Amino acid sequence: MTLTPGITAAPFWQEGRVPTLPSDPLPGEVDALIVGAGYTGLSAARETAAAGLATLVLEADHIGAGCSGRNGGQVAYSLKPSFARLSTLHGPERAYGICREAFEAIAYLRSLATQDDVDCDWQARGGFYGAHTRRHFERMAHEAGHQPKGLEQRISVVPRAEQHSEIATDYYHGGCVYHDDASVDPMKLLLALLRRATDQGVVVSDRCCAESIHKAAGGFEVLTSKGMVRARKVLIATNGYSGALSPWHRRRVIPIGSYQICTERLGADRVQALIPNGRSISDSRRVVVYYRPSADGERVVFGGRAALSEQDPLACVARLKSMLTRILPQLDSTRIDHAWVGWVAYTFDTLPHLGEREGIHYCMGYCGQGVPLAPYFGMKIGQQMAGLARGRTALDGLPFPTRPYYRGKPWFLAPSVWAYRTMDALGL
Ligand SMILES: Cc1cc2nc3c(=O)[nH]c(=O)nc-3n(C[C@H](O)[C@H](O)[C@H](O)COP(=O)(O)OP(=O)(O)OC[C@H]3O[C@@H](n4cnc5c(N)ncnc54)[C@H](O)[C@@H]3O)c2cc1C
Repeated sequence: MTLTPGITAAPFWQEGRVPTLPSDPLPGEVDALIVGAGYTGLSAARETAAAGLATLVLEADHIGAGCSGRNGGQVAYSLKPSFARLSTLHGPERAYGICREAFEAIAYLRSLATQDDVDCDWQARGGFYGAHTRRHFERMAHEAGHQPKGLEQRISVVPRAEQHSEIATDYYHGGCVYHDDASVDPMKLLLALLRRATDQGVVVSDRCCAESIHKAAGGFEVLTSKGMVRARKVLIATNGYSGALSPWHRRRVIPIGSYQICTERLGADRVQALIPNGRSISDSRRVVVYYRPSADGERVVFGGRAALSEQDPLACVARLKSMLTRILPQLDSTRIDHAWVGWVAYTFDTLPHLGEREGIHYCMGYCGQGVPLAPYFGMKIGQQMAGLARGRTALDGLPFPTRPYYRGKPWFLAPSVWAYRTMDALGL
């Protein structure tokens, strides 16, 4: 295997793009203080500021250090539980409302990207989902023809004999094209949301960790690494990076490393020969892989779960590359330029959660699908903080479950990944 000498252990998307923010002292008092400057926090901040609340966003690291600056940029319908499963749990009406939120999330991002001049390389090219086994293909084809009414996506079934029109591989047993899927440059999206927030008057302070939150008269006192701030309202928008600041939330999200690599520059012609329609690609395995052409169409960006337990991203390059070349052996002698990891936040019911507990707002738990969900639910929770009725969602009031003895360290992850991998290998 060939690695580029001096391979960069940082996201391809961030090269030369991490902004330097003004290092002004923090305001002593604000109306809204938001912890976490990812899609959720910045989207929420824009709404609170637009409603007239003096708003401060704190980011413990640099802008883009969290998932929002290092994801795959794939935009797809993104709720894990099916309508049938949600109907059993919450009744068909609520289930329908919850599923509709995921459609609204894509529509919101599309409108930001195409109407509001948010420059994030939005590409409405659709997505291809490869079937890992023949049985998976039959199930996918069946589901495409039996979608719940009102929740239909535009799907074309692609038999194995025709799949070279989507991807130059015989690895899959056919698949489905989801025509409404899209892709973005994730870091550009983050920078655009940062700009929208600061244009609205939001103050963003990076390398500033919120260390503790205490109730105080009229709100909260938030101790940060740059001093104390009094805030009337607080939002926890820390997703897979939720830590000691908020043990209640930490007990409810499961941080899981998602690992990515990016090839050397291959040239647009070569990438197009591999993925002719330039779609985002994923497949039906339990331990899913996801990949796509880079936004400039010159490289392939590939991601997945590379290890049983968490690893240095450079230690995962060989495994990720072999996962990639099992699908696209044409890339066998290709060099890998970048490798990185980020922490997505799963939840025990595989739904995102937003709301308020003991006066503190929260919004998190996108289960690896936050590119459309985080900007949208961030917008909604910001509106809720501002007391606006349009901030209501069908997810409001759902219990946010945890499990006994779970404190935020997922000891069960390695055995689960092993079991899922085994089931994938057996074609189950
Ligand atoms: C490798 C990878 C690939 C992915 N691919 C996709 C994809 O293709 N499609 C998709 O839909 N989703 C994808 N995701 C998921 C998506 O990126 C996330 O769901 C989304 O970005 C979450 O946004 P967020 O703002 O909630 O959290 P984040 O962007 O993670 O931001 C949380 C921030 O909180 C900060 N923070 C934590 N604690 C503190 C504190 N005490 N004080 C101050 N700041 C703090 C962190 O530093 C972090 O920057 C991927 C994720 C990863 C890691």
